[in-house]
Amino acid sequence: MDFQLQDYDPINGLKPSENCAVVGICGKDPVFLKIYTSLRTLQHRGQEASGVAIYDNGKINAIKVDGLVHEGFKPYIEKGLTPKGIVGIGHNRYSTAGMKNITGAGPFLISTAMGDMAISHNGEITNYEILRDELKELGVPFVTKTDTEVMLNLLARTIRQRGIKNGIKSSMEILQGAYSVALMIGERMYAIRDPKGFRPLILGKSGNDIIVASESAAIDVVGGKVIRDVQPGEVIEIFNGEITTLFTLRSQRISHCMFEYVYFARPDSIIDGTEVYNSRYQLGTNLAREAPAEADVVIPVPDSGRTQALSYASELKMEYSEGLFKNRYSERTFIMPGNMERDGAVKLKLNPIKSVVNGKRIVLVDDSIVRGTTMKRIVSLLRSFGAREIHVRIASPKIVAPCYFGVDMKTRDQFIALNKTDQQICDEVGADSLAYLSIEGLIKSIGMDKKSLCIGCLTGEYPVKILGEKEDVQTTLEF
Ligand code: AMP
Repeated sequence: MDFQLQDYDPINGLKPSENCAVVGICGKDPVFLKIYTSLRTLQHRGQEASGVAIYDNGKINAIKVDGLVHEGFKPYIEKGLTPKGIVGIGHNRYSTAGMKNITGAGPFLISTAMGDMAISHNGEITNYEILRDELKELGVPFVTKTDTEVMLNLLARTIRQRGIKNGIKSSMEILQGAYSVALMIGERMYAIRDPKGFRPLILGKSGNDIIVASESAAIDVVGGKVIRDVQPGEVIEIFNGEITTLFTLRSQRISHCMFEYVYFARPDSIIDGTEVYNSRYQLGTNLAREAPAEADVVIPVPDSGRTQALSYASELKMEYSEGLFKNRYSERTFIMPGNMERDGAVKLKLNPIKSVVNGKRIVLVDDSIVRGTTMKRIVSLLRSFGAREIHVRIASPKIVAPCYFGVDMKTRDQFIALNKTDQQICDEVGADSLAYLSIEGLIKSIGMDKKSLCIGCLTGEYPVKILGEKEDVQTTLEF
């Protein structure tokens, strides 16, 4: 296997990591296939590219592939070309439009005086451009524009200066934003979660294997048991079957991303003690209480609105029916570059079931609206199949501000809800009525304290200082 350095894309450059998947397994037998299985379980967190880095014989080797995990790694598995090492990390990349390739896919590797280092990262470092410039001044060469490469080089530098524990701590004092990380320094593995805990990171065990993964479902699927969440600010060393917390850098303010519960994570995952399915069920129940509608049938937008539609219908004792068939082989529409493209793709992806829709008054439930393209298209599809009335119900509040911590919602002008009333949005999507869940309803449904959640995309106030944006509370790190 060749050591693969990151590719440089001079045309697009590279954006920071986004809501990717990370996995790390440290065992006694070869770990490649278990990492592969975990990455497949976490495919929903990134479909554009994947990579696995494995320590073997004093070196870390990586394979990176385009596209879905099972497609990309198929030739390696079929030809028996998979690495044999017993410690490794993996990554699924969630990129934005125009960058559907392994450029920027993790894990990132560098060779250092302490041995090879590899990193898989989920999240977004908000001050990475400044850090990159500073490191460049110090002579550090960069081959990509990603935040992950900055983080890896910063870690390499501070670890060389201060040793592993203090070096990681020094880097964490400098890094701002969201990072859930699986790091390898030679055969030692580290699980690192930022002090605010934006993105999930779970620790588990399966026989002799110790696992870290973005979601608990990835631990379940390899036959493991969840031990616990990596705590916000915690750094765990995994070596020789031992799990050791090196330190925990505490923040006064935890900021778990609410969107993990609304949309991003799998419903069968438990994150920070809260089952995602249960949160989604509550989102639907609270939506029904806040915004009931008179109608004949409740229909979900598959798959994102299913659980919420089910509980909406159950709460109001209404009929629930699958009125839209989803083509499970269609591509992700969210990242398609133009509205025209997304429009056509929605048509390919969803088709109404005539007997459920024709002549009916429908409550149409989805998890969220970002640009509104999907909703507009579905409303018009349902009308063309004879829907009499369409009442859109959204099981989260209005998204009005960018996410700086790893969800691909970047510019204010893309949000349909910005500076608009519900009626204006309703008119724009062509529905008969439209309502969103309130922020209070969202918080109640997730079941966490408001001060433990990041709701920056709903309020425009962020738990970390972002240039040009409002900060919701002033926070400092505690040691
Ligand atoms: P749209 O309003 O057409 O921009 O897309 C909104 C729909 O896409 C939502 O109902 C979600 O199901 C899904 N979605 C929301 N945010 C994201 C994201 N960051 N990546 C992928 N899909 C998303």
